[in-house]
Amino acid sequence: MSSSQHSRPSSGPSSNLPPDDATVAAPSAPSRVPLDHRQLWTKAAVGANTYDFASGRVTPTIYERTTAAALRHEALNLGQGFTDHEGPQWMLETAAAAITDPQQGPGNQYPPGPGLPALREAIAADQQRRWGIELDPTSEVLVTTGATEAITASILAFAAPGTQVLTFEPHYDSYGAVTAIAGAELVGVPLRGPDFRPDIDALEAAITERTSLILLNTPHNPTGTVFSTEELRRIVELARRHDVKIMCDGVYEQLVFDDAAEPHRPILTIPGADEVAVAIGSAGKSFSLTGWKVGWVTGRAELVNQVLGIKQFLSFCSGPAYQWAVATGLADDRGFYAENVAGLQAGRDLLYAGLEAAGLRPNHAEAGYFIVADIRGLTDIGDVEFCRMLVEEVGVAAIPVSSLTVQHRANPQDELQNLVRFAFCKRHETIEAAMDRLAQRLPAALDHRPA
Ligand code: PMP
Ligand code: GLN
Repeated sequence: MSSSQHSRPSSGPSSNLPPDDATVAAPSAPSRVPLDHRQLWTKAAVGANTYDFASGRVTPTIYERTTAAALRHEALNLGQGFTDHEGPQWMLETAAAAITDPQQGPGNQYPPGPGLPALREAIAADQQRRWGIELDPTSEVLVTTGATEAITASILAFAAPGTQVLTFEPHYDSYGAVTAIAGAELVGVPLRGPDFRPDIDALEAAITERTSLILLNTPHNPTGTVFSTEELRRIVELARRHDVKIMCDGVYEQLVFDDAAEPHRPILTIPGADEVAVAIGSAGKSFSLTGWKVGWVTGRAELVNQVLGIKQFLSFCSGPAYQWAVATGLADDRGFYAENVAGLQAGRDLLYAGLEAAGLRPNHAEAGYFIVADIRGLTDIGDVEFCRMLVEEVGVAAIPVSSLTVQHRANPQDELQNLVRFAFCKRHETIEAAMDRLAQRLPAALDHRPA
């Protein structure tokens, strides 16, 4: 099959569902390996752009590939979104004490599958205190193994086989994999620079009678866009009108900067949202403890119960000590959130200035861990090749945004093929050192490229 048969309009929605024939060629990697669509692993890999069409093997995720490349080339890692400093010391100590002194905490045996009662209560109390959202901790809060499991269980619960799932793209990588496992088709509605605001009319235009679910992510990875109240209100209205569910991934909800156009609004604060939407959170991002993998799903009991139907057979439960420590953090963050957001915002500003000085066009991230920068003012080599050059020749690792999109865009000029994601959730000296490398080495690296 020629690559032109994968063409999509460059500004319209695109779909990642692999064509139904037996052998499929990715535009950039002609295939000789048959793609067996009966196997779920191939669907997951194609859905998350982790299928290597040349070898027929699964590759690690783009985040892991980037970290591995950073280590290999001794590059500064502004790729994968983890902090290069630890979360609050007192939370580390609480978790450690819970493990070694079982009398003090929940012990080390299976906790309840839906989560430790102490954590479910802490999540409900936190949502009530900050946003006025009333949740019954016993039926409307479900603890998961990271937001990743919450996403997986929600998509598998709500996306019926043969239906369509809509999301704004670029999007978090697992949305593509899990939608494909569910036997559904992910359709991407592009977020366009320089502001990367969601185009609600385009979202509505992409809805068909096959649409079962909308995947939202606010604050958004990788653009840092915080969806406005009006944008969310319109999305909820059209989901209700078209009888479509919403999964809203809010893992960056504690990381909103003071110059965001509007404060973050959790989906469940929008009138009527509780009838169609579940919300997702993660302690990994809120407390800079990405390895702990404590996440949650909230929403009305009926929907949370449906997610539980899947979740309890994915991991059943996750580690009690981490859950215990997160419960104490949610009850009282001891000033950590404010300090953390201030540090992230200062990191964002350092990164923005460095990228702009290097001739890239960075966006104004309102929240989260990332800036996306348009490379078209500097070069036409595309994001994948730019990131390869960056890690190998400049010594800085970053993520090509096209790997976070629904694949098979034919147009190399498309904005989504020319954006690079840089993480600022790193120590300021790491960011400064990376920007120094960009200033010193990027011009030469670009000049030395064969014409
Ligand atoms: N959603 C988004 C948008 C993310 O960036 C991430 C990465 N942390 C996740 C979900 C996964 O979160 P967790 O590490 O809690 O599984
Ligand atoms: N959320 C992180 C990011 O966006 C990565 C998580 C992962 O590696 N799965 O970089």
